[in-house]
Formats: sequence, C-alpha cells, structure tokens
Amino acid sequence: MQTKMNLIFVGPQGSGKGTQAKIISKELGLAHISTGDLLREAKGELKEKVDNYTNRGNLVPDNLILEILKKRLDGDDCKNGFILDGFPRNSEQAKALDKIMKVDKVIEIKISDKEALKRLSGRWICKKCGIAYNVLTSPKPKKDKICDSCNIPLYQREDDKPSPIKKRLKIYHEETEPVLEYYQDKIISINGERSIEEIQEEILKRLKNAN
Ligand code: AMP
Repeated sequence: MQTKMNLIFVGPQGSGKGTQAKIISKELGLAHISTGDLLREAKGELKEKVDNYTNRGNLVPDNLILEILKKRLDGDDCKNGFILDGFPRNSEQAKALDKIMKVDKVIEIKISDKEALKRLSGRWICKKCGIAYNVLTSPKPKKDKICDSCNIPLYQREDDKPSPIKKRLKIYHEETEPVLEYYQDKIISINGERSIEEIQEEILKRLKNAN
C-alpha cells in the first residue's frame, strides 16, 4: 500500500473518528492531527478566545483554525503524510485546505444521531493519558469515573454536556456533511456502529484496495 498519504477522517461527534485516526496513523506511520486537540492545548489569551466558542459547541472562526493548522502542517512529522481529524468542518475550510495540501482519501465514519448522543453523553476522559471511556456503554472504567491505568479522576468535556452536544450535531449536519460532496470521488464510507477492531480492519482493507 502507498504509505505516504494525506487522509481526512470525517464523522459526527462520537463516531469514533478520533480513536480510528489514532490507530490508523500509528499503523501507517502518518502524523495524527486533531484540530480539536490543538484547540484544547491553547494557552492564555488564545485559550480564553477558543473556549468561548468550543464550550458552547460552536466552531471557532475559519481564519483562526487555519492559522493553527498551517503551523502544525509545517511539522517534520507531516512530511510522510498525515491524518486530519476534525478538519475541514465546512466547505470554506475544504477550499482553503486545497490551496495548501493535496488530499488523497476521505474516510467517512457513519453513525446515527441516536448513537452519537448515547456515546457522547457517556464519554469521560483521562486528562493524563487521553483514554476516552464511556460510562453508559463501553469501555467502562473499572472504578466509577477513575482511569484504569492512571488511577486519577476522569473528566467530562464541557462540550460533551447535553446542550453543546445537540448544537455540535446540528452544525455537523448543516456545515460539515456538505464537505462530503466536495470530496465525492475520494470518499470511503464506513459503518461506524461496529467494534473498534472491525472498523479499523475495514479502513485498512479499503485503503489498500483503493491504491
Ligand atoms: P472535536 O474534538 O473535533 O470534537 O472539536 C472540539 C471543538 O473544537 C469543536 O466543537 C469546535 O468548537 C472546535 N473545532 C475543532 N476543529 C475545528 C475546525 N476545523 N473548525 C472550527 N472549529 C473546530
């Protein structure tokens, strides 16, 4: 399989695209770039500005996220290809990306809104190791809201609370889904309502067959 690839992972919140992007990037030696993570790492004044949008479930302005992303794409680890997780979120961002990078394939992970709501409202994360648990479904932590490996309390993202979740799903359908049309000839659609392993295998198989 061609290993130097620029991939985009698209899917509603809770589809598992972050989990898959992490696994597949390791498997193929690609850099994993989550724009959500880049924003959560912001410090000081920038953090205050970013939190104003993200905590309510709104997108941050295109020029801001583009500036942050361009810097990240300059990283040495991106030279052998990358996976974008959470970008582009709208057609303007897709057009802007086209001007700076070639996109090889777009992996769409599909789940219903009902499933997305169930997964997100139970999502609790370990700040230290980054593992995401689900206290309603699985993987459940062994002790209530405590990380199995780090033994510290888990936290719930501000934007995984009910009102921002609904807003984020609405924005996904209204602004992000149209991006899929833009990438029509590059899309690999995957059913995301299966196990992590099954989805991972299918993504790798379909990428191999597409080459
Ligand atoms: P995520 O971790 O991908 O769910 O992203 C968390 C939040 O970060 C989103 O709800 C947005 O507020 C913001 N965000 C992430 N990526 C983008 C993007 N490409 N454009 C604008 N806002 C973004």
